[in-house]
Amino acid sequence: MYVGIPVSSVRDFFLMLAMPFIKRNSGARTASFAARLLIVLLSIGAAHAVEPLPVDEIAPGVFVFHGVTAEQDAHNRGAISNAGFVVGSRCVAVIDTGGSPSVGAALRAAIRTRTALPVCYVINTHVHPDHILGNQAFIPDKPEFIGHARLPAALAARARSYIQSAERQMGEFGRGLELIPPTRTVADREELDLGGRTLRLRAWPTAHTDNDLTVLDEATGTLFAGDLLFVEHMPVIDGKLKGWIAVTAALAGGDYTRVVAGHGEPGSGWRDALERQRRYLQKVADETRAAIKGGRSLSQAVTEVALDEARRWALADLFHRRNVTTAYAELEWED
Ligand SMILES: [Zn+2]
Repeated sequence: MYVGIPVSSVRDFFLMLAMPFIKRNSGARTASFAARLLIVLLSIGAAHAVEPLPVDEIAPGVFVFHGVTAEQDAHNRGAISNAGFVVGSRCVAVIDTGGSPSVGAALRAAIRTRTALPVCYVINTHVHPDHILGNQAFIPDKPEFIGHARLPAALAARARSYIQSAERQMGEFGRGLELIPPTRTVADREELDLGGRTLRLRAWPTAHTDNDLTVLDEATGTLFAGDLLFVEHMPVIDGKLKGWIAVTAALAGGDYTRVVAGHGEPGSGWRDALERQRRYLQKVADETRAAIKGGRSLSQAVTEVALDEARRWALADLFHRRNVTTAYAELEWED
């Protein structure tokens, strides 16, 4: 059921329609019919009472939900990353779907408070579960699911572990998961037409992951960077450190009006945010190289490398050692 107004208002509307039957007809049969009608309508309302995610319209027709900076758990349901949607004259494109079907359903409900147009595209910026596990909520819309050409392989390799950790970390919100792979992939660059509005998709070389995809809304100059940009939340290296440093520099040279990060809000200061991220990644690279050259072991390096830079970021306790471990493995055998 698609409604452009809150479900509680729909229920009130049906109640309003039913009230004259109750008031004007004293016959028991009519009263009984009205009561049953009310029960049915109330239960329909309850079944669809999905609380919409709060979204900001950051530019005309561009809406963003900002996730909390935290690990996924049963309290936040996996709403820990940013997600958004862009509305054209023909249809809507969703960009990332949150970290559980529940968050995906709430994003879908948010779309319905803004437009009655169909969702024609669900775009995933990369494989990580906090950006992709909401996909299944959009199956009824029959959209094209779009991702990087390497997304299907990454998803297949990780499906089991994502499903297991989702249930462990989010309880009931992590159950009954279906991982929805892309029905259409992007190897380089592609355009999507939303009706009078073009999205430019770009598949990047390995950086944050090996399947990072960005989405540029041409009309407003808004770039959805996915996790190629982290703000506040420590950047997490799951691809190639050297590749990500290069892509961070490439993004900094871009001509965007605004950038939506995968985590946190850079606002108009997206170039500064990219520079902060570049500084951390470069420091990890430089000091890891020095540690390897100095004969330090991996277990020594994780307690020594880039600690000053790490302290500037949220969730460093969770991710910094992991980042140094990834960097060490990548840089140990470089020429
Ligand atoms: Zn990610």
